[in-house]
Amino acid sequence: MNAIAKNASSVKSGLAQALMVAVFGIGIVFVAGHLQASALHDAAHDVRHATGFPCH
Ligand SMILES: [Zn+2]
Repeated sequence: MNAIAKNASSVKSGLAQALMVAVFGIGIVFVAGHLQASALHDAAHDVRHATGFPCH
């Protein structure tokens, strides 16, 4: 492997690593947001049932 190819592959793996970190970060944000939304949903759901609001 020559120096140029070596450089190109290390840039590629750095990019892949950055992409993986970004996907991981987005995944955490998505999961946290989803958990928060479902917690809010459950709370609203409980209130709906407690107040006898027709729900399902
Ligand atoms: Zn319900």
